Amino acid sequence: MQRVAIPMKTIYRLDLSAQKRKLTAQVNAAMGADRADGYVIWDDQNYPDHPNPLYRKKAYHINVACGGVEEVSPNHILNLMEQPDCKHLIWISRDIGEAEPIRTVWVYAHEMTHLVQDLDVPLLSSLTNFLRLAYPRVEPPKRQIDIPGEFDAELTARELVVKLFGRNEYQAYVNRQVQECTEGGVYFRRFEAVRFLPSVPRIRRSSGCGRHLCFVRPING
Ligand SMILES: [Zn+2]
Repeated sequence: MQRVAIPMKTIYRLDLSAQKRKLTAQVNAAMGADRADGYVIWDDQNYPDHPNPLYRKKAYHINVACGGVEEVSPNHILNLMEQPDCKHLIWISRDIGEAEPIRTVWVYAHEMTHLVQDLDVPLLSSLTNFLRLAYPRVEPPKRQIDIPGEFDAELTARELVVKLFGRNEYQAYVNRQVQECTEGGVYFRRFEAVRFLPSVPRIRRSSGCGRHLCFVRPING
């Protein structure tokens, strides 16, 4: 049966700038997210001390239809998850909504990629969720981008940022991050190193209709 496209509904608790609304609409169009039933919520709060570690993050995507509602959530988010049409939820913290535009778009595109992965390669989402739990317990310690689904989300976010902001603005952003001795600097040094490795498997949207994901065989693999 032909599925009727229902766009994700967006709730702005934060007064997101017109520029960012336009950029995130361009991300939506590029990602083909109009197949998903659910909500994007731009929150006007951060929750650094929330008992649910999910809210101590900057953003998340969850599949409510498969995983159920997160019972320990701020009330307005819990109410949203309990709506019958909330099959997917992307939550974006105030920090990200108020960040410089490249960071806002980067994180939004990253979470939107998780949504598309979940629609097209649900097995990958299961693997990602498993590795998120397993990796902190293995030696040597692994980072988020060592998880294939996370690495793919970062590469997709990078591609969209370069497309929307241009290569120079992207590179200036990365340089600023790398020069700062912050967690972001450490991360970008590693990201810039691993994204050129020829043996890294990549999950790529097909060039045909652009709506499917397939595993790309590593060049050296
Ligand atoms: Zn992620």
